[in-house]
Amino acid sequence: MIQLIRGFKDILPGEVELWQAIEKIARALLEDFGFKEIRIPIMERTELFARSIGEDTDIVEKEMYTFPDRKGDLITLRPEATASVVRAYLQHRLYAPDPVQKYYTIGPMFRRERPQKGRYRQFYQINAEVLGVASPLIDVQLIFILVALCAKLAITDINAHINSLGCPDCRPRYREALTGFLASIAAELCADCRRRRVRNPLRVLDCKVPSCREAMGEAPSIIDSLCDECQRDFETVQAALQDLKIPFRVDKRLVRGLDYYARTTFEIQTGSLGAQSAVAGGGRYDGLVKLLGGPDLPGTGFAIGFDRLTEIAGLNAADLLPKPKVFIAALGERSRALAFKWNCRLGLQGLRVEMDLGDKSLKSQMKRADRLGAGYVLIVGDKELEDGTALLRNMQSKAQVAIPIEGIVAKVKEVVTAANSRP
Ligand code: ATP
Ligand code: MG
Repeated sequence: MIQLIRGFKDILPGEVELWQAIEKIARALLEDFGFKEIRIPIMERTELFARSIGEDTDIVEKEMYTFPDRKGDLITLRPEATASVVRAYLQHRLYAPDPVQKYYTIGPMFRRERPQKGRYRQFYQINAEVLGVASPLIDVQLIFILVALCAKLAITDINAHINSLGCPDCRPRYREALTGFLASIAAELCADCRRRRVRNPLRVLDCKVPSCREAMGEAPSIIDSLCDECQRDFETVQAALQDLKIPFRVDKRLVRGLDYYARTTFEIQTGSLGAQSAVAGGGRYDGLVKLLGGPDLPGTGFAIGFDRLTEIAGLNAADLLPKPKVFIAALGERSRALAFKWNCRLGLQGLRVEMDLGDKSLKSQMKRADRLGAGYVLIVGDKELEDGTALLRNMQSKAQVAIPIEGIVAKVKEVVTAANSRP
């Protein structure tokens, strides 16, 4: 038997309802905050990711699924969404009517990492991107939305971590301080970090290797090197978060795994996921639009790990399972033919309906209705056909009423809908 690829997974009925429920809540929330959906392709030219995410990052160096297509062009399965959203913003000149645009997108991402709980090679993200807004208040709003989403999903054990990565004005100064520090601990660093230490020292702060993390404990903090403007922005962010009563922690090690971030960065972390503690991450990427060949417009956004959300959401999966409102139990060929038409028409009326098309006994059909959690069973057999009525049985109260076959679809819908709208 052929099995799926390691690190990939099926999301089966029984689990998918939770994904659907979360997606519905996230979409509604984002749309309430003015975000519009954008759908971008799953593959892009490799160059798009290499340039925007950065050549020395883990993602570009070792995690991307990159291959030549049949004509030899290098293409990559997207490891993240921001680069593609910005590409679309530029390619379609979406900034021309109004540079301020808010987009969200939901879909699979691909990174060849070591699979484990909370870490897959195809995983899903809910992304939000805001283009054209320079005010740090929008970063606060993004964090606010993330915290609100977690609350709506009954996720309790979360912490907002924030940091500032400075800007092209002040980062060189920090880079220098960091480079000096890294030289003093070079012997303790992993091979990747020894190489990055010179090429891209900030990346060392993001290394997950425990010995590197330990060696970095005394590293200088970027917050001490911020220029006045970055400092002011960062204070605005903190004051606004306090105003909104969002608990947060300044985390000077939070640099995120992508090169394009600047100024405010943030992560929502949880204690419920073991080592995979980041539920969502994001921040400002003011240089990216220009880097990709567009006007000098600011950008900021976040990515939520959808898989991780499903692993910690407090929604009750059993409540989410779709149950038929009506199960039609037909006995005999004539009844079945008639019931089949009711089935089609009730389904079309928006009433979730199920029936057994085989030649099963009433007992076995009732059992199946029970197993599916049907609210009502509509029973029709030869005797009912003769009487011109069918029996509608309430599976909870066990009460049974006879319903005339003439006009039965409307009547069943009426009874079931009335029962559902009662508190
Ligand atoms: P991590 O530190 O866990 O590797 P990251 O910094 O690489 O995360 P981002 O690129 O910021 O992650 O992506 C945003 C979110 O996507 C993460 O916070 C996480 O919830 C989720 N995520 C990232 N990589 C994976 C993966 N391989 N499997 C499942 N979820 C993932
Ligand atoms: Mg990662």
